[in-house]
Amino acid sequence: MIQEHVLPTYGRAPITVAKGEGSYLFDTEGRRYVDFCAGIATCSLGHCHPAVVAAVSKQAGELMHCSNLYNIPQQEELAQLIVEKAIGIPGRVFFCNSGAEANDGIIKVARRFGHRRPQADGSPRYEVITFNKSFHGRTLGSMAATGQTKIQVEFDPLLVGFKYVDFNDLEALRAAVSEVTCGIMLEAVQGEGGVNPATPEFLRGVAELCKEKDLLLMIDEVQCGYGRTGAMMGWQAVCPEVKPDLVSCAKGIGGGFPMGCFWVSNRAMDAAGTELSSIMGPGSHGSTFGGTPLACATALTVVSEIVKQQLAERAAKLGEYIKTTVEGWGLPCVETVRGLGLLRGVGLRKGAFSVPEGNTPAGYVNSLCMQAGLLACPAGPDTLRLIPALNVPEEVLEEGLAILKTVLEGLV
Ligand SMILES: *Cc1c(COP(=O)(O)O)cnc(C)c1O
Repeated sequence: MIQEHVLPTYGRAPITVAKGEGSYLFDTEGRRYVDFCAGIATCSLGHCHPAVVAAVSKQAGELMHCSNLYNIPQQEELAQLIVEKAIGIPGRVFFCNSGAEANDGIIKVARRFGHRRPQADGSPRYEVITFNKSFHGRTLGSMAATGQTKIQVEFDPLLVGFKYVDFNDLEALRAAVSEVTCGIMLEAVQGEGGVNPATPEFLRGVAELCKEKDLLLMIDEVQCGYGRTGAMMGWQAVCPEVKPDLVSCAKGIGGGFPMGCFWVSNRAMDAAGTELSSIMGPGSHGSTFGGTPLACATALTVVSEIVKQQLAERAAKLGEYIKTTVEGWGLPCVETVRGLGLLRGVGLRKGAFSVPEGNTPAGYVNSLCMQAGLLACPAGPDTLRLIPALNVPEEVLEEGLAILKTVLEGLV
């Protein structure tokens, strides 16, 4: 049993996955599952995409790891692709290995910015405002940034310098900004917190508030980024004219390979024209494994395929299709279908069906889907998240939706 020697931090479903192929997974008994979980929005090109397999194999045979003490051309090439084709705003990239690490990185940049652009009396600004139901990760920094007490239980004292307000509430946000605030951090669509998109008015308002108060606009694109929400970046799907200062990425950029990064804008941060990205000089941050030739060659292939195959546009279309299809079933257990692109949440109506003691509605429906051959993922207690690969074939999408329909129709 896995729990014997592995720390039991995950409640694991009783299946063992042996093999993946596109949007299908196969367990050790040979059973096939339609995969609408995709490693929690990580396997953007499905499992074992031939171009990704080829990139990993080729690079592994040449050079896997190289210290950041030396030049790494794959990093340079990937950073250029990220800046030009994904973010679309001049800036610089730091490579790491996960979403939490990327978020810790942008929190550090915000703190340093708070020193360089201090309060009127010269003391540093340090506070980052985040949102209730957000999710930013599990490290001490990203956990403190997360606006959900359930992930913080008994890990206090938390890192200081965070304040949480309700998402999409511009008035509450404005009231929360103080002389110590240096940044506002948000997801364009809250993923783990229940698939809640920011409204365009809210995102625009946050950006204006940041300008007005000299705050950094920090966007956590770990789950939304790289085509998932129907644009290359989640904020671009919500309100494309917004210009963030800091962006964190992970999950989908690696297509299943561990990769994280954060981007820092080159915009001027003072009258002298100092570039924001210049404040993170030599010695200010690091990661031994960050941006290895292997990780970068893999992500380079993943991001290039997303761009080349126009998978963001495809995600926008398929996501709309999922919404109209599921809502079109007219089932009493479905309240709404929320989200953008292929980050969709089926909101389950409270009390519409009975749930076994000790389970949540989303956890229960998720387990029924699994038994019926569909892997999805809960997002909060009442939302079933559908996050298939961006290149999910249309017939596999239909197959998964048919399973979902049968399961939802069977709820009593
Ligand atoms: C998953 C997630 C993280 C954490 O990423 P890890 O790679 O698990 O550290 C952070 N932010 C968001 C929005 C996420 O969805």
